Amino acid sequence: MPQSDPRTSTGTHEPLIRFDQVVKRFGSLTVLDRLDFTVAPGERVTLIGPSGSGKTTILRLLMTLEQVTSGVIWVGGEPLSHRYQGDRLVRANEKHQRRVRKQIGMVFQQFNLFPNMTVRQNITEGPIHSLGISREEADQRARELLEMVDLSDKIDAHPAHLSGGQQQRVAIARALAMRPKILLLDEVTSALDPELVTGVLDVLRTVAETTDITMLLVTHEMQFARDVSHRVLMFDHGRIVEEGPPEQIFGDPKEERTKAFLHAVL
Ligand code: ADP
Repeated sequence: MPQSDPRTSTGTHEPLIRFDQVVKRFGSLTVLDRLDFTVAPGERVTLIGPSGSGKTTILRLLMTLEQVTSGVIWVGGEPLSHRYQGDRLVRANEKHQRRVRKQIGMVFQQFNLFPNMTVRQNITEGPIHSLGISREEADQRARELLEMVDLSDKIDAHPAHLSGGQQQRVAIARALAMRPKILLLDEVTSALDPELVTGVLDVLRTVAETTDITMLLVTHEMQFARDVSHRVLMFDHGRIVEEGPPEQIFGDPKEERTKAFLHAVL
């Protein structure tokens, strides 16, 4: 599916995401080890690698659910983990992080919908309260998004009355309603019964095909990763051991650790 490659189409873009020597430790455990990588605007990048290699931590750092131990994370040319004080970078406060984080939406493994709200309220409350758009406009956008995720008839349902796959499609619509530049997807089909996975992946294929949103995905769905990604990063012990276009990583991996990982999961 990757039509024009955002890394080569103009060549002049500043990265939308940049990890600069990022270290993340939990106690004595080093989860990310001086990690450097960038993601271009419009690029779709899949993170693969064994359990515990640090993939989810990368997404959680971008959502500011975790803080870096050292190094700097940049989003849209601005520091996220830090802020400027004069020309010096200092640790960002909550207010700064909240502002920069508005460019990012995330869909989690567990759908995390608000159980006491309808589908419509789940999708419109964020845009109304955080983006300050009118209820009418938020409602119109919710209808469009529900059409895209094929759930127009569930607009007034509560999450408890939806299947896991339907809840996850609402969660995708809710994330997109905030008009993020970046969508983070963390194993969004892992908690679903197998027969519900295809519907969610089809919705994400549509998002990839019809928008220019930048995506960072952690998934075990290797065929899906192959179809939608421009680039795959293979992680082990908090470092990138190999990266390349999906056809190369999946079809002709160079590193033994990539070969062993793919052998185990495919
Ligand atoms: P992956 O997504 O590749 O499976 P994670 O980023 O979830 O890996 O986790 C990397 C490592 O960090 C694991 O060893 C995990 O147990 C550890 N870890 C993650 N979050 C915490 C935390 N809040 N406290 C302590 N250890 C954590």
